[in-house]
Amino acid sequence: MRLAGREAGYGRGMEDRLAKRLRDVPPTIFTVMSSLAVRTGAVNLGQGFPDQEGPPSVIESAVTALRGGRNQYAPGPGVPELREAVARHQQKYYGIDLDPADQVVVTAGATEAIAAAVLGLVDPGDEVAVIEPYYDSYLATIAMAGGVRRAVRTRRTDDGFRLDLDSLRDGVTDRTKVLLVNTPHNPTGMVLDEAERAAVAEVAVRHDVVVVVDEVYEHLVYDGRQHVPLSTLPGMAERTVSISSAGKTFSFTGWKVGWVTGPAGLVANVMAAKQWLTFTNAAPLQPAVAHALEHEMGYVEGLAAQLQDKRDLLCAGLAELELDPVRPEGTYFVLSDVSRFGWADGMEFCQALPERAGVVAIPAQAFYDDVDTGRHLVRWAFCKETAVLEQALSQLRGADLER
Ligand SMILES: *Cc1c(COP(=O)(O)O)cnc(C)c1O
Repeated sequence: MRLAGREAGYGRGMEDRLAKRLRDVPPTIFTVMSSLAVRTGAVNLGQGFPDQEGPPSVIESAVTALRGGRNQYAPGPGVPELREAVARHQQKYYGIDLDPADQVVVTAGATEAIAAAVLGLVDPGDEVAVIEPYYDSYLATIAMAGGVRRAVRTRRTDDGFRLDLDSLRDGVTDRTKVLLVNTPHNPTGMVLDEAERAAVAEVAVRHDVVVVVDEVYEHLVYDGRQHVPLSTLPGMAERTVSISSAGKTFSFTGWKVGWVTGPAGLVANVMAAKQWLTFTNAAPLQPAVAHALEHEMGYVEGLAAQLQDKRDLLCAGLAELELDPVRPEGTYFVLSDVSRFGWADGMEFCQALPERAGVVAIPAQAFYDDVDTGRHLVRWAFCKETAVLEQALSQLRGADLER
């Protein structure tokens, strides 16, 4: 699959000049599948970007900043009003006290925050434990830092996907430098429950590990659930780097404005790497994101309620088609098992789907070290207009899905 990805995408023939640390890293599956969607005109339930805009007042705030002379470099750690807004957000939702002067850094999306955290904390040969299936930038970032990846497994249960606690205890040892956690979790939709959070904190404290938590879906949780930051557990505040972003929260994925929060010492480690990656980004968008955090959290509540309905629509449709969805607790995504129709390989299914049904989905095996574990799983995004989801389902209903 890794090679297949590269053959299907850009970069053919550059193999011999590519730096060794990137040779095992395929081009992101999203590029491959989104170009397939464009080429075939299929409905794209692959890449997780919303097809509705975020709040108009936030766009107006960006326009004001663009017209108001805020077009030169922002300070390296971010504009003060955004750092202050992030600190107030953490206090208001989670009771976390942060000094915006040295405990908050604005980044080019969560993606840069993750890269800066790993590059700032991991030496070549250090072990980095990561929950499998993982968001694909984790793999690339760990490889660029020269880290050694250890997968912590998840299991499908009657209660959705759950963290495999034995695998967590095996994967996190005294050799582990960083444990990279994502909750709410893409692509499984799992939101770590109380026992899982306690187990993560226990191994992290026992082995003195830094925990980097990707919380970009913190507000997109369903059925009355609450996201609980790992940094609020006993012993965790001093070892946790938390990452979030305006992309998923406010439906501005193209803005790439994210942030890192945590204890000043760890945030300084992240900043040490971040200043040499982008130094700073999106100066006129940063005040607009501050405005969003201060004034548009009502939008986010509405968004979560709408997404819950869309999740239900897509899950019901996939279940009716016997595509065996696992109901997610949060995020934009649902995983489904396509083996029912003879597709042992979700990659093959996803490659056939645009032609069979005019729909694009993502093979989840791209997010597994152990490709066999995820081979039969396919990820569908439901952050799309209801009419788009209905269209996709109706095309799937009309298609021959037998292998
Ligand atoms: C979308 C996503 C990101 C990337 O966030 P940006 O702010 O767009 O860089 C990071 N982690 C996960 C789990 C995501 O789904």
